[in-house]
Amino acid sequence: MNFIFVSIQCDNGHIVCSTCSPKLRNKCWCSLPISSKHCKAIENLMLSIEISCPNAEHGCRVKISYIGNRKHEDECIYVLCYCPILGCGFAATSEVLSNHFSRKHRNSQIKFNYGHSFIVSLKSNDQAIVLQEENDGKLFILNNSTILLGNAVYICCIGPNSSESEYSYDILARSQTCKLKLQSFVKNVQQFTLATLPSELLVIPVGSSEPLKLEICISYITPMMEISINMPGKIKIIPLRVKISDTIVNVKKKFFTRKGSQYTNNV
Ligand SMILES: [Zn+2]
Ligand SMILES: [Zn+2]
Ligand SMILES: [Zn+2]
Ligand SMILES: [Zn+2]
Repeated sequence: MNFIFVSIQCDNGHIVCSTCSPKLRNKCWCSLPISSKHCKAIENLMLSIEISCPNAEHGCRVKISYIGNRKHEDECIYVLCYCPILGCGFAATSEVLSNHFSRKHRNSQIKFNYGHSFIVSLKSNDQAIVLQEENDGKLFILNNSTILLGNAVYICCIGPNSSESEYSYDILARSQTCKLKLQSFVKNVQQFTLATLPSELLVIPVGSSEPLKLEICISYITPMMEISINMPGKIKIIPLRVKISDTIVNVKKKFFTRKGSQYTNNV
């Protein structure tokens, strides 16, 4: 959402916003015409009003301008993500959702580790198989749709739509006579649906053996980096994933929000 507030006034000094003025046929309630003269004082006052991000109740501490740039709302990482188990309906930030899944749906997922291949058996009428990473608990979904030519499979990740892709994946389908392989990037979805197919997927033709044995590997695009931190009296080396686009502030934030971080933000 992005709208710019402009306040204008009539010759009596009554204030109207530029969105409402045309609705009033550019005529103030006092019957004088509304001019296009800006009322800077009101504009500045409105700009200084800040409200909490709509995701504040889920942990976001960012303040956004009441009228100015609302870009944060599209980028907020505290948006709700939905549990992929049909009928569960649980919604939370992706991190809380991971914990929920580990506790409530313990046997509904296949566990894996980043960078290590694993085999998934897929029946042609399986629609979704949840994959959960052992260490960080991230949820991925192996989607399977029956299309005219056979089965269309791809992988997505449960997370904020706005975040850029952090993972790549390979799917390898093998029969006795041929091998099919897809290498792609994992897109985030906040809510899992079968409705729309992405442009990148692997089509496994009809007539392949049942159940399909898929060899899958999901990897981090960004490598692990070692960040050294000067602590009083010693230097501590901490492994952290850092992207090229990360700023110092971002990296600091990642460091302090790491699972089990015992440090407070005073470095
Ligand atoms: Zn208005
Ligand atoms: Zn007026
Ligand atoms: Zn936010
Ligand atoms: Zn659930």
